[in-house]
Amino acid sequence: MRLEGKTAIVTGGASGFGAGIARKFAAEGAQVMIVDLDHDGAMAMADELGAGHFGHRANVAKSAEVAEVVATARQVFGEVDILVNNAGITHLPKAMEEVDEEEFDRVFAVNCKSVYLFARELAPFMKLRKAGAILNLASTAAVSPRPRLSWYNASKGWMNTATKAMAVELAPYGVRVNALNPVAGETPLLASFMGEDTPEIRAKFLSTIPLGRFSTPEDMGNAACFLCSDEASMVTGVCMEVDGGRCI
Ligand code: NAD
Repeated sequence: MRLEGKTAIVTGGASGFGAGIARKFAAEGAQVMIVDLDHDGAMAMADELGAGHFGHRANVAKSAEVAEVVATARQVFGEVDILVNNAGITHLPKAMEEVDEEEFDRVFAVNCKSVYLFARELAPFMKLRKAGAILNLASTAAVSPRPRLSWYNASKGWMNTATKAMAVELAPYGVRVNALNPVAGETPLLASFMGEDTPEIRAKFLSTIPLGRFSTPEDMGNAACFLCSDEASMVTGVCMEVDGGRCI
């Protein structure tokens, strides 16, 4: 029970890595609020986790909805100990000039602006309490970008710089901020990165991962649990690869 007594918001918790993180947090004793655009998915995940956990539909790119998430979490939990900024999207693989403006704006609103919106709502309370852990889901795309995903890659590079900037600014208040850089993972988003899900494209992606497999929601749950627990009380500003050696 490494997170016993802690409360956590996990964005994008209805699917993929967010679901893996939510399951691990609940198993380790945290109370979890699943925030997702997918109302039914958020409710189903909260049901699966059981009593003490709850689901909430929100678009993390909209300021009023993020304000409502934080107000609701504080109403239900009292205080929020952990925030996981996990919700993220990509444009399909294509030449950088072929991504249209609307798609570009959507990727940056969900992947980047949401982190600012949550910081604006939640950081003041964490600073007052002199406690808190924030975890951002970036990507190996930030460190070792693949072609044809340029603006997605750049949004994840933004995430890693934001993580370090937030970490250094919030350190005097006892608030830690870290990131995970997952390699391609077995989630619904994988097909979007690959363009199409064929054995050949899977083999191409796998050939760049020294440990020879895709990452999993359980891998992210385990890494997230460590970084958000008191075991990592001296760890901040770290962007940790969970990538089977992809970035070596
Ligand atoms: P996923 O598509 O399985 O899950 C993402 C969840 O976020 C979904 O439940 C979706 O409904 C929700 N979501 C999307 N937009 C939202 C919004 N505006 N507001 C609220 N919720 C929203 O994706 P995943 O693979 O689990 O990805 C999770 C994170 O990990 C993302 O930030 C992604 O960029 C990152 N990542 C994924 C991979 C991978 O290969 N899967 C690799 C590296 C990094």
